[in-house]
Amino acid sequence: DTRHGDILYLDDITVSFDGFRALNKLTLDIAVGELRCIIGPNGAGKTTMMDVITGKTRPDAGTAFFGQTIDLTRLNEPTIAQIGIGRKFQKPTVFEAMTVAENLEIALKTDKSVWASLRARLSGQQRDRIDELLGLIRLGEQRQREAGLLSHGQKQWLEIGMLLAQEPKLLLLDEPVAGMTDAETEKTAELLLTLKGKHSLMVVEHDMAFVGAIAEKVTVLAEGSVLAEGSLAQVQADERVIEVYLGR
Ligand code: ADP
Repeated sequence: DTRHGDILYLDDITVSFDGFRALNKLTLDIAVGELRCIIGPNGAGKTTMMDVITGKTRPDAGTAFFGQTIDLTRLNEPTIAQIGIGRKFQKPTVFEAMTVAENLEIALKTDKSVWASLRARLSGQQRDRIDELLGLIRLGEQRQREAGLLSHGQKQWLEIGMLLAQEPKLLLLDEPVAGMTDAETEKTAELLLTLKGKHSLMVVEHDMAFVGAIAEKVTVLAEGSVLAEGSLAQVQADERVIEVYLGR
């Protein structure tokens, strides 16, 4: 049984859209503290897989276990977020008119409305946590800056910081370095490597240099199931992988 010690175990997941199988008996497991990269051509099912994990799409068959006992396919999106799965979409969605620190404040106080959050006083513990998060995402010097004035990369880090404020056990990141400069990409690699261990991460990414820099294990999806798994060098040398990337 490969489930022992897994944070996530997708077991034989099938998702059909009008008879078309976006996921076809997908089986995949991620260990606690692992940083896994997911690659695969367009249409491979990467987004659909994340939709299943976050409760946005209910599979036609199969189960998705979180922490070995919780079946995610029976829960709704807000519940899944609450029990510790954070998802970052490709585009940054920060509150542009608020400062960097205020964005993190709101994320820390998710039980309240945005308005109530800004009026409520921060506890000392929350203040410390904001400082810690600012350090982690390297935006300490930007804390009083309006988030709308940040660079694209800095906005992405801020959004990762906002997710971290909610103490996720598993983080799903969709193309985190798309549109970043090389320097920003490098810093993002460092950030994700820092998070590994304390959090488990699933990173969907097309930038192979970035994937090579962060991942021990890479999963290649194609046509809704796992085509290959291993180090980046291993999967890149795999004939079937080469074929799905080049052969159409
Ligand atoms: P990827 O993220 O790897 O590019 P997707 O999960 O977005 O792949 O899509 C997998 C396949 O499922 C694609 O062929 C896509 O067109 C199809 N698909 C995804 N969502 C829907 C939907 N809501 N309705 C119909 N087809 C969909």
